[in-house]
Amino acid sequence: MVIHGTDRKSILLKVYRDTNMDKDFSILSKNRDAFILINLSGKIEYASHACEPLLGYSRDSLQLLGLNHLFVTDFLNQAQTFFIGREQEKLDNFDAQVQVIEGCTLDVNVTSIPIFFEQELLGSYLVIKDITFIKQNRIMMERENEYQTIINNLSRISEKQATAGQLAAGIAHEIRNPITAIKGFLQLLMGENIGNKIYFEIINSEIDRIEVILKELMVLAKPSKQKYERVNLKVLLDQIVTLMASQALLNNIQIIKQFDFADMWILGDMNQLKQVFINYIKNAIEAMPDGGLLEINGNPLVEGQVRISIVDQGSGIPQGILNQIGQPFFTTKENGTGLGMLVSWQIIKEHKGDLQIESDSNGTSIHVKLPVFSQE
Ligand code: ADP
Ligand code: MG
Repeated sequence: MVIHGTDRKSILLKVYRDTNMDKDFSILSKNRDAFILINLSGKIEYASHACEPLLGYSRDSLQLLGLNHLFVTDFLNQAQTFFIGREQEKLDNFDAQVQVIEGCTLDVNVTSIPIFFEQELLGSYLVIKDITFIKQNRIMMERENEYQTIINNLSRISEKQATAGQLAAGIAHEIRNPITAIKGFLQLLMGENIGNKIYFEIINSEIDRIEVILKELMVLAKPSKQKYERVNLKVLLDQIVTLMASQALLNNIQIIKQFDFADMWILGDMNQLKQVFINYIKNAIEAMPDGGLLEINGNPLVEGQVRISIVDQGSGIPQGILNQIGQPFFTTKENGTGLGMLVSWQIIKEHKGDLQIESDSNGTSIHVKLPVFSQE
């Protein structure tokens, strides 16, 4: 049987009415959802009461609309093929956007149930559900994830940038001063066209200073050049003490070594580890201009670590500047570089170690913890 023209509409409505004849049995009469009935050309033949508050159109005006008026065009192809194509002669479900009045759109979920009469497809029931809230939640969650990722990335970048930025600013500042002096004297030399010994000495000492700063910075800039090997801690500390002995003697400082171990091995870069302890011992010596005792203690710890403490009787680090120690170029000394603490901490971190600083007016104790290298 082929159904033509206006018959289709009446049959479609009849199908609907028939299903509603017995109100106790009809799914539709009990259905509080908004739904519409459409024919094969996408024209709305019927709209339920719940459509009015949801879509903002009166039922009468809805029945003058086609699907292309109701649904946002982006979804139209999907909607049309969905309703009209032969492939779609089965129940389906998809998200779409409905054009509600005054140019506003509404996110909806559409369930389409095909209507057959004597095995011929006449149209569809479209059950329309408001999913604004769900969609907003979903968008908010996506945004939250995005924000979280951005924030994580930013904080990682800003940590790096903060250090790099601080360093760059500091380097520029520190290098500019000696360079200014060098340039000034060079200009003098050039103007006079004669060589004055003192100028050369100044140039030389300024270049020396740049070299000292750059040497310390190199440790920060090139951690990849490390050479890890088994290092005997006692041998290492003995070497360092020998190295520093003359400077200590000059300052009337007595160095006392106390190691609670015989052979203790750690895995690390020999030169960098030397650098760490030289920095701390130098600071200790510099903190005791009137002499005193400098203790170097080594204690094995139970957690597979060893602790080396450098204890001086110096003036201590005032509480107010304690948190600035380790910032690049922070120094209280006339000729300090303010890089020793930073470089040492960097090296300790790379060796998976830990650092603790105790300081009061009686002196300063620097405790370095390093993991012990066990041979098994
Ligand atoms: P520098 O020795 O070139 O000043 P450091 O990074 O080694 O740079 O030390 C930074 C600052 O920390 C010093 O200028 C000093 O004020 C303080 N400091 C470090 N170690 C000690 C210490 N043992 N006693 C007192 N002050 C210290
Ligand atoms: Mg120092």
